[in-house]
Amino acid sequence: MNEIKTNETKSNEEKKRVLLVEDNIVNQKVAVLLLQQFGLDVVVAENGLLALQSVQQESYDVILMDCQMPEMDGFEATKAIRRYEALQNRYTPIIAVTALAMVGDQERCIAVGMDDYISKPIDRYVLNIKLNHWLQKEFVLRNQELARKYAQPSGLQSESEYDPVNLTELRDYYGEDLNDVLKTFIESTSNYIVSIKQSISEHDHESLARYAHELKGSSASVGAKQMAKLALYLERAAGLRDWKEAKDTTEALVNSFDSVRAFLEKSPTWSSEAVVLPIRD
Ligand code: MN
Repeated sequence: MNEIKTNETKSNEEKKRVLLVEDNIVNQKVAVLLLQQFGLDVVVAENGLLALQSVQQESYDVILMDCQMPEMDGFEATKAIRRYEALQNRYTPIIAVTALAMVGDQERCIAVGMDDYISKPIDRYVLNIKLNHWLQKEFVLRNQELARKYAQPSGLQSESEYDPVNLTELRDYYGEDLNDVLKTFIESTSNYIVSIKQSISEHDHESLARYAHELKGSSASVGAKQMAKLALYLERAAGLRDWKEAKDTTEALVNSFDSVRAFLEKSPTWSSEAVVLPIRD
C-alpha cells in the first residue's frame, strides 16, 4: 500500500495529522495501524465529545468519524465541530465511517456537514484514495466554500437545520415564481437521475460527470444543499471512474431527492397540483 503522498519527506513535524474518532477498541487498533502504515500521525478520541474537545485544542488535517458512539455520536459531533470551526474560520474535512446496510446514513452524514464516507469494515485501498483526496487543500477549500455559502444566518433558525431546502430564503428570492422554479427542479432532476443511472450502467464517465455537474448547479439554485454536495461527489466519482462510489452516491442522491420532494409536498405554500410525479425507473 502506498503511503499518503505528502509534499516533502516526512519529518515528524511534516506528517499529516488524523483524528480518529471511534469507540470500539478493535476498530480503533485496526484503523490506527492502517493510518500509521500510510505515514500519518494518529490521535484517537473515543467519542464525539472528546473529539470536539480535541479539535478545540489542536488542528488536524482530516477527521475519521465513527457514527455510532456513546456520549456524543458522530452526527452530533460533526455539527458541533462545524459550528465551532465556522467561528474560527477553520475547516477540517470529516470522513464518516458508516456501518454497512445503514440505509440513509450516508445522506445523513452529508446533511450534518461531513465531507465523505467510507463503509465498515474499512477497505484500505478505498481509505487510501479518500485520504489522498481530502489531504489536498483545494478540495477542502471547495467544501469550506460550500459550507459557508449554505450556512444559515443565525437569525433564521425557525426552520429546522435538517430541512432539505430553506423555503423562507427561497420565497424571498423567487417570490411568486417559486412554485414554478421548484416544479421545474423536480422534473429536471427526475430526468437527470434517469440519465445518471444510464451513464453508470454504460460506464460512460463523461456523460456522468456532465449530468452530475448540471444537477449540482440546479440543486444549489434551489438551496438543496445535500443534493448539491452529493452531486459534487458524484462528479468526482465520475472523474475517478469509481463506479462503486458512483452507485452508492447516486443512491444517496435519490434518497435526498425523495426527502426534498416529501418536504415540499408537506409545505403549506406548495400547491399539490403543481407537483408532477416524476418518472421513476
Ligand atoms: Mn461505534
